[in-house]
Amino acid sequence: MANGCDSNNELDECHSEAYLPGMGNPGDARAEVSKDYVLASDFDQTLSFNDSGIALSELLGTSGFEEKVRGLARINLVQQGGELAYLLLHDPEYRRVRREHLVEVGKRIRLKRNIGRLVEILESGIDGHRFRFYVVSAAPEEVVQSALAGLVPPERIRATRLDYDPETGEIRAVRHVSAGYGKVAALTELQQSLQLPADRVVYVGDGSSDVHVMLHVNRLDGYTIAVSENPFIAPIARRTILSDDALSVLVPILEDIAGCDAAGVRGVFSRHGLEIQEWGKVRTDFLTIRDAARSVPA
Ligand SMILES: [Mg+2]
Repeated sequence: MANGCDSNNELDECHSEAYLPGMGNPGDARAEVSKDYVLASDFDQTLSFNDSGIALSELLGTSGFEEKVRGLARINLVQQGGELAYLLLHDPEYRRVRREHLVEVGKRIRLKRNIGRLVEILESGIDGHRFRFYVVSAAPEEVVQSALAGLVPPERIRATRLDYDPETGEIRAVRHVSAGYGKVAALTELQQSLQLPADRVVYVGDGSSDVHVMLHVNRLDGYTIAVSENPFIAPIARRTILSDDALSVLVPILEDIAGCDAAGVRGVFSRHGLEIQEWGKVRTDFLTIRDAARSVPA
């Protein structure tokens, strides 16, 4: 990862009260140099607390969504995370969904705190590192756009695109699903359109739909953050961070990309009028242990 861990970089936001980011401090050539990144974030359970599919099922009053998703996952018929798109096209209970249902679901989604502030801080830049914030999600784009209205502009959202029948309003096709490998395609397209090298890509996600894209980003020296202890994701991501506040992803970004130490991280938060109340660092190992005697064939 191209990072900002310059040992002689004393005038950065992490270490100096005197530095005002973006103010072009006289005589400080480094203030002029800005490193551009793209930060792509998953939506369901990364920026929100629950899956869009569950929220939609509640709105429709249908049950068994999770069971249907598990069934689809077992037979590997669709990319992981793309189950809702499949159900919208093929399941009689979800066939009755119209655009307005999806917009309404978005309004009901409970979001993590401070998404707007996260976008603001990333876009304004930290120590010359500027991050353009995008959402790459398997959820239908109507849901994500409506949930993030006023926080993330629609043109910054790459989500599953559906095609509607103009007469009946019925969903007649899926144009693109940003799930599983579909996220790699969406992110690659984004990175190329922004003309950024692959090592300036940061990806944040929580679940098995993010496995492909995280492996892809890591392989190209980008940076990955898991926001859950999902056993498929946590071992792949460079860092795992658990919080109900979206701003928490700033911590690994400040430490590993901007090169801040713990005091520097707290300093950046406090300059934005925020305080980290609790900060526990743990390293998690996942183990399953069995009795060796029982595994010896008779
Ligand atoms: Mg997710």
